[in-house]
Amino acid sequence: MAEDVDVLIMGAGPAGLQAAVHAVRKKTGVVVIGKPENSALYRAHVENYLCVDGVMDGREMLETGVGQAIRFGAELVYEDILHVEAVEDGFLVRSETREFKALSVIIAIGTAKKKLNVPGEKELAGKGVSYCVDCDCNFYRKAKVAVVGNGSAAVDGALTLTNYASEVTLVTNALSVSESMQKRLAESSVVVKDGLWAKEILGEMGVTGLVLDDDSTVEVEGVFVELGAKGPMELATAIGVQLDMDTFSYIDTNKKMETNIPGVYAAGDIAGQPFQMAKAVGEGCTAGWFAANYVKKLKRNS
Ligand SMILES: Cc1cc2nc3c(=O)[nH]c(=O)nc-3n(C[C@H](O)[C@H](O)[C@H](O)COP(=O)(O)OP(=O)(O)OC[C@H]3O[C@@H](n4cnc5c(N)ncnc54)[C@H](O)[C@@H]3O)c2cc1C
Repeated sequence: MAEDVDVLIMGAGPAGLQAAVHAVRKKTGVVVIGKPENSALYRAHVENYLCVDGVMDGREMLETGVGQAIRFGAELVYEDILHVEAVEDGFLVRSETREFKALSVIIAIGTAKKKLNVPGEKELAGKGVSYCVDCDCNFYRKAKVAVVGNGSAAVDGALTLTNYASEVTLVTNALSVSESMQKRLAESSVVVKDGLWAKEILGEMGVTGLVLDDDSTVEVEGVFVELGAKGPMELATAIGVQLDMDTFSYIDTNKKMETNIPGVYAAGDIAGQPFQMAKAVGEGCTAGWFAANYVKKLKRNS
């Protein structure tokens, strides 16, 4: 049974946390889903943010931001989001263990889509190497594929691919997912290569194999690199959010951080350059503010 929430914020970086602070102070119910330690800021040392004198540790800034958001009344769910869909009167958002029905959502999930950085990856990108299961699974009907990754996106991707591919191998050297995901994986047909990692991707015109770090080779036609959580493409496009027409890498917004879908806002790196904390925080404030207004208006009119 989905839990009802006014404003659901996807992402616990500076954009999401600032959005939470501003939305919750407008007396709306706010849930933030995301892992602060996966924020780009976590690894940063910041010295160009106003009112910070000297260099500040990004990790400390995030810890303070999490504390503020929670103190003001937002709930933080330390999980990845696996699925989003538009439903009749809002949005259904499923994380690793919970499901929410939100009146409004703010997408603040950053942009990071990590690469494997192994030989063959760059050359074969788009020719069998993919970074988006939901976008490309259909191309691998009855084919053998591999997924490389340790997190929820890798496991969810591998499970999704079992509906398309003839054989799915998950290559993982430090699996880190919830117990329920581990159970679903164990009950599935996915072949798990545990304790191993990708060393090279083989092929010329298309992928023919994946070499692992024990020098064994898995014969595959597709390699899905799924490092970290589900990325912007999968989550944003699932609810019909429009991306920028030049690169299709960022979400298009107006000055209120509204997207083309009523009730859906975007903020921070996912809304385009410059990739800076000052911009993320400013856009988070705007998105939180207008999302809360949107929800209040909805409730007044219902
Ligand atoms: C090494 C480094 C140094 C930097 N130095 C500076 C600097 O000096 N000054 C400066 O202004 N900026 C700096 N930046 C940039 C700054 O960190 C980013 O612009 C800022 O963190 C963007 O904030 P964001 O909230 O949009 O995204 P992020 O901080 O990336 O946060 C994204 C959040 O979304 C979550 N998320 C992603 N996918 C999912 C999912 N499927 N489900 C749930 N949650 C999800 C992540 O876990 C994370 O919590 C630096 C970045 C790096 C990497």
